[in-house]
Amino acid sequence: MMNQNAKIYVAGHRGLVGAAIVRYLKAHGFNNLVVATSRELDLREQGAVRAFFAEQRPDYVFLAAAKVGGILANDSYPAEFIYENLMMEANVIDAAYRNGVQKLLFLGSTCIYPKLAPQPLKEEYLLSGPLEPTNEWYAVAKIAGIKMCQAYQRQYGARFISAMPTNLYGPGDNFDLEKSHVMPALIRKFHEAKMANAPSVIVWGTGKPLREFLHVDDCARACVFLMENYDGADIVNVGMGSDITIGDLASLVKKAVGYTGETVFDTTKPDGTPRKLVDIGRISALGWRPEIGLEQGIANAYQWFLDNVNAAPDQVRGLA
Ligand code: GDP
Repeated sequence: MMNQNAKIYVAGHRGLVGAAIVRYLKAHGFNNLVVATSRELDLREQGAVRAFFAEQRPDYVFLAAAKVGGILANDSYPAEFIYENLMMEANVIDAAYRNGVQKLLFLGSTCIYPKLAPQPLKEEYLLSGPLEPTNEWYAVAKIAGIKMCQAYQRQYGARFISAMPTNLYGPGDNFDLEKSHVMPALIRKFHEAKMANAPSVIVWGTGKPLREFLHVDDCARACVFLMENYDGADIVNVGMGSDITIGDLASLVKKAVGYTGETVFDTTKPDGTPRKLVDIGRISALGWRPEIGLEQGIANAYQWFLDNVNAAPDQVRGLA
């Protein structure tokens, strides 16, 4: 168990997951958190990262910093995605080892799995086939991060572990309609249609693809759970363990927002992969389960959006 006074560094504390980890730790009495903005500490700079760790000497590290983006961003900036993610991981993981960090949790993504792997995705499918080409730059960098944790564990006995979260949503999401994922896009679209009394909302694709959605607060709880209960070299999936069609998701968001118009499917837009679901057998066997149901989670995410959209629109990513 982590001592409540232990020094905990959350890298990427302004991101969706990092911010949720900070919220969770604070709410559970951890009072010695260390964070640094990218302006204060550029994780791509080895010297800066080494100096930071030598000065701060954290006991625990949650490595949630990453350059992230949707399909378009991944496809347009492959060099930035692979370079920046590789540098951040390599610098933080090595500095953590050199400065006696007791334990580190690295956050990956389910895009590390082969494009054609069977569903639900089991951890053992890692490196069993070719990746999805549009985000392979990001995926290769994340796989390198996993392998670094395993290598440092194997060679040095470092307690560095990796978690692979499914699609996440919740407070602090990106609501940019061009770049965001489906959940925040639907929350924004239905909300704006309600405000404008618009007759219909356009949902991309056929509505038939299946996706899994985990509230980011559940993910944060899983990260702390793994930090306290898992020491293995193998990666661990973090998900809901169940999926839903985009059409049914749209109905849930529509209901949560209270929109009464029509939902129109724009089939000129791509569906993407037909299904993406992770197997959560491993983390379930350790004793963790998701607690935030989809309806409850959507209500929470929409409330966060409402609270911020008027009061602090500059806090809402992608709103402009
Ligand atoms: P993916 O899981 O990597 O495919 O990423 P997304 O979250 O962007 O898309 C998931 C599914 O939701 C795809 O089938 C999209 O076509 C569909 N979708 C429906 N409406 C929207 C929308 O407004 N924005 C996005 N991003 N996806 C949408």
